[in-house]
Amino acid sequence: MTARRLHARHGAAAIEHIPFRASDGTELALARVTRANGSEGAADGERPAVLLLHGLTASSDMFVLPETRNLVDVLLDAGYEPWLLDWRGSCRLPHNDDDRAGYSFDDVALYDIPEAVARVRERIGGRRLFVVAHCLGALSLSLSMTAGLVPGLAGVVAQGVFLTPKLAASTRLRMHFGFEVLRRRIRHVPVDFRKAGFRSRYTPLFALASLGADCPDPTCQMLHNSAWSVGASLFVHDQLDRRTHERLADLFGSAPMCVIPHLRRIELAHTVVRWNLSDGRYRALPENALDAADRIDCPVLLMSGSENGLWLDANKLCHDVLAARHPRLDVRYVEIPGYGHVDPFIGRSAALDVFGHIVEFLDERR
Ligand SMILES: [Zn+2]
Repeated sequence: MTARRLHARHGAAAIEHIPFRASDGTELALARVTRANGSEGAADGERPAVLLLHGLTASSDMFVLPETRNLVDVLLDAGYEPWLLDWRGSCRLPHNDDDRAGYSFDDVALYDIPEAVARVRERIGGRRLFVVAHCLGALSLSLSMTAGLVPGLAGVVAQGVFLTPKLAASTRLRMHFGFEVLRRRIRHVPVDFRKAGFRSRYTPLFALASLGADCPDPTCQMLHNSAWSVGASLFVHDQLDRRTHERLADLFGSAPMCVIPHLRRIELAHTVVRWNLSDGRYRALPENALDAADRIDCPVLLMSGSENGLWLDANKLCHDVLAARHPRLDVRYVEIPGYGHVDPFIGRSAALDVFGHIVEFLDERR
């Protein structure tokens, strides 16, 4: 079982796939990106590394969209060495659709992220290492950081959410009550109508997602109008390139129900908390990440689209809380006007509107 191919533009970037299995046995995917034409100059050995972490059910594909100027292109041009981790919630991994594979964000924070950081460090030696993380990749990273498992990063960019999750009232209701009913019937919420079939147990979910939708595409409705049935929205529709819109089912996989109990506990606590309280393997993780925020030892850029339809202004709240409680921490907040949740990375104009903020933050600390 291996990860499916990345959709990076042929010829623009060379992707070196590095075999990577987490120490609990889970097969993950790690890749280093360089220029495809082998034009690595001597100075390229000095490039700071940037590890990119996708959101739940997305994959590293979200950073290498061939149809737009993507974040990997921009980082290469700016003199960085991008690294891509597909953690266990990636739709590129067979694991994500495997009904037997249960996991929580504790596993991502304890195994996937620290072990990927260690593998990258084995390769880059003493070069600086940044992490840019999206959504539940960023939330899991916050748990790794407050556990002290990834010390000494040069800086972290967290998009959408970090230590202080915040959902709309309607999303909370669906997640706490609707999903409790759903969880007994299904193991995943699919996004690809073609795979789910026209008449299936998932049909009511697609019907629900279509209510009030302006776009006729069922996969788009599931993501833009419903966010896997929690009633949130993952992007501002007009920000997507037509070609990105046509392959949303490639970019996002089905949402596994196994993570819902942990998400619910996190949501009720309004901060990132550990799921496994009695299992000694997870003792390294803090029970409450916000209370352990004094362990964050690097600058943090919190980012969010002004129209984030999933986590709302959670990252602004996170900035305010961290700035008040930890005045010596270098934390800043950037809001991207007119953008939603995931379009700051996959939007057609993200290179113009968003990536400059990321590169500016990295450049100040390279
Ligand atoms: Zn659409």
